[in-house]
Amino acid sequence: MTDMLVVGSLALDTIHNAQGTHERVLGGSATFASLTGAFYTGVNLVGVVGTDFPDAIVHQLRERGVDTSGLEVAEGKTFHWEGRYTDDLTSRETIATDLNVFADFDPKIPEAFRDTPYVMLGNIAPELQLSVLDQIRNPKLVIADTMNFWIDGALESLKKLLKRVDVLVINEEEARQLSGRHHLIHVAGELLDMGPSTLIIKQGEYGAWLFAGEDVFSAPAFLLEAKDPTGAGDSFAGGFLGYVASKDSTEPETLRAAVIHGSALASFCVEGVGPARLLELSKDEVEARVKEFQRLVDFSHP
Ligand code: AMP
Repeated sequence: MTDMLVVGSLALDTIHNAQGTHERVLGGSATFASLTGAFYTGVNLVGVVGTDFPDAIVHQLRERGVDTSGLEVAEGKTFHWEGRYTDDLTSRETIATDLNVFADFDPKIPEAFRDTPYVMLGNIAPELQLSVLDQIRNPKLVIADTMNFWIDGALESLKKLLKRVDVLVINEEEARQLSGRHHLIHVAGELLDMGPSTLIIKQGEYGAWLFAGEDVFSAPAFLLEAKDPTGAGDSFAGGFLGYVASKDSTEPETLRAAVIHGSALASFCVEGVGPARLLELSKDEVEARVKEFQRLVDFSHP
């Protein structure tokens, strides 16, 4: 089994949705990506939590195949994010971002993780993502996520980072912001010129586009009644990279299938609050949903 490395945030979130308020919900980009990647491959996790982070969760991650030896426990409180979704889940407002121990996060990649071939740089400061890249040796594929916060506040570092990553995963609105263009064909052209050879543009409930060299692929989203979209993007990225690692291939056909596997995992993520659904999910259920995805886009050409 080939491994993947995940670096990003681990959080205890507060989520307000139509069902009410949910407190101390497990969250963070690295959490969702590790849980979904672990369906396909061994996951080496690097992140920081506070002394309030429940041991039971660390055990759950381990049981799921996540190596938590790169998880630092720092004096203080775990990163906390609080958000409120509109009842139709089409938008959310951030109420609080308490960095806590995450404020001083300086990722240290353990020696045993430095040769991990597949690397996911979760959504953290581009300078930190660059520092992770400086610590790893000869990765086969590096995938990075980012957000408007860094496009607004750390554009130069982000541009430096993009020259060193293979796959950029970004949502549609942020892709438009970063490229300064509107039509996706122009957006993709601009972003690919910035460095990555592969680009994935996420469109939430409408699916995702994959631009891999000359290959363009469109994946639908699964039709379902979502409960909590928190972490869907990270679940997608983790599932995508985990699948690629399990095939140990970066050929366009593998990347296409990986987008569907990532989409399947993201669809399970939104069915529960936080990662609740992912934590009880079986490999068979994932395979069954991938087949449903296949049926969704299958057509015959007379
Ligand atoms: P997503 O729904 O993909 O945006 O991911 C949501 C997760 O990201 C939540 O579980 C939060 O704990 C985490 N998160 C929110 N803001 C930040 C931030 N500024 N840096 C790192 N992680 C964050």
